Amino acid sequence: MDIIIIIIIAVGILQLPLLVDVIRNLFPRLNIERITQDYASYLLFSLVVTVYSGFMYLFFSAYLYVKAENPYATINGWIHIFLASYFCIVSFFHYTYASFHDPGTAPLATLGSHTDYPVCTKCDRIKVGATRHCKVCQRCICMMDHHCPFTVNCVGLNNFYYFVSFLGYAWLGMSFAIYMTFTAFMGCMIGQTSYRNALPASICFNLGKNAIVLVPIVTLWLALGTLLAFQIICLLCNVSTLDFSLLFRQTKSLRKMWYQFRNMEFLQENSRMQVLYFSRRNYFWQHFLPLPIQDLPCCY
Ligand SMILES: [Zn+2]
Ligand SMILES: [Zn+2]
Repeated sequence: MDIIIIIIIAVGILQLPLLVDVIRNLFPRLNIERITQDYASYLLFSLVVTVYSGFMYLFFSAYLYVKAENPYATINGWIHIFLASYFCIVSFFHYTYASFHDPGTAPLATLGSHTDYPVCTKCDRIKVGATRHCKVCQRCICMMDHHCPFTVNCVGLNNFYYFVSFLGYAWLGMSFAIYMTFTAFMGCMIGQTSYRNALPASICFNLGKNAIVLVPIVTLWLALGTLLAFQIICLLCNVSTLDFSLLFRQTKSLRKMWYQFRNMEFLQENSRMQVLYFSRRNYFWQHFLPLPIQDLPCCY
């Protein structure tokens, strides 16, 4: 099968969790995620690996030559190789951690000496501060943000950092991919002469119908951009995704969140932005590297 067909199918299936989310909201009693939970994370992970491999294959076999005719002998070529590899490695690292790292499961009430704390009646775990019980994972998660259908994992205290970093780097990576593939799409697929003339002579022949790869790239760019923008708005309002949806359903207006944003709560030391993101690195430059963060204890 052609690499482009594989990419389009994989990107298509990756949108399915969105459908699952819609069905779950429309029919809350159905609990369909519980059924798919066990194998879905591995399925989605393999699809993500497929999409990454497909993009990297197309980059090294064709698109690199669009921007640099002799890429391995020029600085320009190596800059493109570095950027493509960097976005690929850093975003994939954060996706893996967001999917498989413990989001911050609350300790069981029977363990330790936390008897003064309130206990969850559903999972017998200690419930302090922003701890929430996840219906899908059936356990309490510290500083739970939401249950993510794309990573098939809860997003909470110890993996929110990875989740948001993944969205950021993957979105930047897709922006870079649009820059790499746009000219070839316009020149080879749409047949615009001005774009075609700007391309090396053999590129349309080499790419064939693979030039349509811009379409799945733009789809991913839009999806990731929307999710990233929503997460940034939640952080600025200093509320979790769950609380944001709840507040929005109750007030039916964005005014309440807007007031919180105006209070500049997100700059405080105990705000979600500080606890979940900025305080997790000792040095600012560490944010740009694929390095694990230190886990925080659930009750502090
Ligand atoms: Zn619970
Ligand atoms: Zn969950």
